[in-house]
Amino acid sequence: MNPYWSALARTLRPYTPGEQPRVEGLVKLNTNESPYGPSPKALAAIRAAASDDLRLYPDPEARRLRAMLAAYHGVRPENLFVGNGSDEVLAHAFAALLRHDAPLLFADVTYSFYPVYAQLTGVRFETVAVDADLRLRLADYRRPCGAIVLANPNAPTGVALPLAEIAALVEARRDIPVLIDEAYVDFGGETALPLIANHPNLLVVRTMSKSRALAGLRVGYAIGEAGLIEALVRVKDSFNSYPLGRPAQEGAIASVEDEPYFQARLKDVIAERSAMTGGLARLGFEVMPSAANFVFARRPGYAGAELAAGLRDRAVLVRHFAKPRIADFLRITVGRPADTERLLAALGDIVG
Ligand code: PMP
Repeated sequence: MNPYWSALARTLRPYTPGEQPRVEGLVKLNTNESPYGPSPKALAAIRAAASDDLRLYPDPEARRLRAMLAAYHGVRPENLFVGNGSDEVLAHAFAALLRHDAPLLFADVTYSFYPVYAQLTGVRFETVAVDADLRLRLADYRRPCGAIVLANPNAPTGVALPLAEIAALVEARRDIPVLIDEAYVDFGGETALPLIANHPNLLVVRTMSKSRALAGLRVGYAIGEAGLIEALVRVKDSFNSYPLGRPAQEGAIASVEDEPYFQARLKDVIAERSAMTGGLARLGFEVMPSAANFVFARRPGYAGAELAAGLRDRAVLVRHFAKPRIADFLRITVGRPADTERLLAALGDIVG
């Protein structure tokens, strides 16, 4: 251990992001990126922003982007917070809204960054077991706690809860903040955004990384009652006042303006998800019903690590979590039709 490290740095157990190898011919289905590029209009806006103006700081409040997103979602700019990817928005929310004397609750099978933010920001937490089918049981979130965070659709399962269940929870837990992480909602989930008008305890977090194919630009946002947003701004302005550079703000605006491109790519991914699910089922896989741009699947008789290693040998990268309850599963991002073919051919090779 390096003697210069702080006590905090010593205790951290950081999140491990999916690999980003640069290998010729690799089928990369491990980090839920879009197989399609961003809107050409977004790319043009980013290029145009690469100008002499880069010597100037960007708008710290991202007013044009927030106004654009607010109009798009039918809320007001004061209901909208933007950050450097939804990971940053989530981290700020942990510090600003989820840290209380009573513990934060989240599922034992969910986005594995949550315990990491909790550790960094000093949030006490307890996990709530998902059921035998790896589904969230919201009745278990009625117990005393300081706050709740849920991903809907959940990760890494891809399973979505109906809005009615989320609505019942947010209504029953008006006593505490409830954060819904909707990173994958555009691919088939039901958004909780309509609940915000009547629920000052609800914060919805979104990202442009997946459905808008802008993972490399780093733009995420949160929507909630103005008082919740103000807490996020207080943390942001105590950390980094300029989380989004000029190209990111311009690219994000142009992406939101290009609704036809957005809808067309969503349709492509959803169609390919269904093709991939069918192909996996024909190879004997059990596939969880996905409302995301990935599927969570296992093949009885084969360990997840074995399948992942076999795929890697065949230049197909998927994500495997060596964790209790989910070690048999692979999380496979939906790619282009040619990627699905390569995936299914490799799996066919492995499982005979
Ligand atoms: N939430 C969930 C559930 C995710 O899977 C991810 C992607 N790893 C994120 C948030 C963060 O995405 P980003 O920081 O790219 O917005």
